[in-house]
Amino acid sequence: MQFISRRKKFNTNPQAELYGLPLQFYGQPPLENISLNEFETFAVERLKLLKTTENLGVSYVKQSDQYTNKMESELRNLNFPYRSDADDRKVVQGPTEYEKRRKDHISHFILRLAYCQTEDLRRWFIQQEVDLFRHRFNDLQAPQKLEFLHRNNLQYDTTSVEEKTALKRELLNSSNTVSGITVEGQDFYKVPFQDALDLVRTRKVYLKAGYVYIPHQDIVTIVLNDFRTRLSKALALTARSLPAVHSDERLQPLLNHLSHAYVGQDYSIQKNVGKISLEQIDSLSGKSYPLCMRQLHQALRENHHLRHGGRMQYGLFLKGIGLSLEQALQFWRSEFVRGKVDADKFDKAYAYSIRHMFGKEGKRTDYTPYSCMKVILSNAPSQGDHHGCPFRHSDPELMKQKLQFYKVSPSGISQILELVKGMHYQLACQKYFELTHNIEDSNFSLSHPNQYFVESQRILGGGKDIKRETDTPKRPQENSVAKGSTAARETSANASQDLPEMQEDLDSFFQDA
Ligand code: SF4
Repeated sequence: MQFISRRKKFNTNPQAELYGLPLQFYGQPPLENISLNEFETFAVERLKLLKTTENLGVSYVKQSDQYTNKMESELRNLNFPYRSDADDRKVVQGPTEYEKRRKDHISHFILRLAYCQTEDLRRWFIQQEVDLFRHRFNDLQAPQKLEFLHRNNLQYDTTSVEEKTALKRELLNSSNTVSGITVEGQDFYKVPFQDALDLVRTRKVYLKAGYVYIPHQDIVTIVLNDFRTRLSKALALTARSLPAVHSDERLQPLLNHLSHAYVGQDYSIQKNVGKISLEQIDSLSGKSYPLCMRQLHQALRENHHLRHGGRMQYGLFLKGIGLSLEQALQFWRSEFVRGKVDADKFDKAYAYSIRHMFGKEGKRTDYTPYSCMKVILSNAPSQGDHHGCPFRHSDPELMKQKLQFYKVSPSGISQILELVKGMHYQLACQKYFELTHNIEDSNFSLSHPNQYFVESQRILGGGKDIKRETDTPKRPQENSVAKGSTAARETSANASQDLPEMQEDLDSFFQDA
């Protein structure tokens, strides 16, 4: 039997057909006009959903009850479709469910634009979308699954009754058939084995003459392979159209920012100015710095110099933890003059960029400390650089040596390296946090080096030390992305027009010194 032959006519309204099920293959891009505000809100909320998907994927066994419950609650909180038991034909008329499906559709395509730009971004996006898709496909009821396959022209043959009877014993022995359901009582799909390598590898299916026989409940594996392949091709195609998208001055900074965005607090506003003295820095670097900053601090102390990328990354971090401009100038000057730079040269060549960082030069922008995503994804370090994220940019063997040097236990090192191997860099860093602070569960989702510092201080100070307020105001650019829907609703079209100017300001600053 071929599904395509059973394809039937659905609602004649193309939009209603597209949103007829809580899940789709995202084969057709949205064609309607949407406001910039809606564009931003949808993108931010999907990004939050994908980040939660990543976190849950490494914290729980995928498809376990805990994983499923938490995924469901996140989908519900962010207003994405999650109910599989609704009668979709009625639902299409209900504005709420319709709106959720519309948001799911549009937000997926917006993030495609933002995440098609580099190989790293594409890989991350595909992995999270595939995990999300798996959860949502499994959540569909059996008839909805069939209808989904149907609508998407997935032409898998079901085996005939005669063939099932002839292979009954083999099918029973080789498949994880649901208890209570007989071989006769369920469909088996006959699929070329190369399309089901995961199932072959785990010996979950019967393989004969180049075909595998997949019980209905395992068809998700095949659908996922198909989804992954389509998405990967679609991202490559989208990347080709980027020059056109980049020519739109409203969208380009927003998309760039989305791909580097983290969904969390902003650390540009200095709440702790003056709370940290320069004498404390060495000890803080050992206790409360994330690895990226620890290695920058160490390199600065050893070489009495850091190249531009390192000065930016570390300088903004220090500003975020509470160094005043005067302290920062003193800190950098005292270190640089121990090396090859004299005080006069420092004042001429470096002091300007430190004042710039604090918004006292140029366009007087108050620059934000870099988020993990920015550190991980942009400006990879080259020979002689010390910036970047060690979990992303260090060789695994070097990483292992560093962790040994920092007295992380062998089993802790293996756990961290395993996460690094799976490209879960922030989770590897979070594991490092847990191991070095002797806690089981850090209870936060790491997205920023300054967040690492604040959380560390909170633990080391028994919950009392440097504690940032959650309602910290945000910079216009990162702000609207981080705050999500509220910010997006409040962002006017004029504010969006400020973005390119701000980007330009940043870019010109990055080229300084
Ligand atoms: Fe720094 Fe973030 Fe990398 Fe940790 S994950 S080392 S905080 S960039």
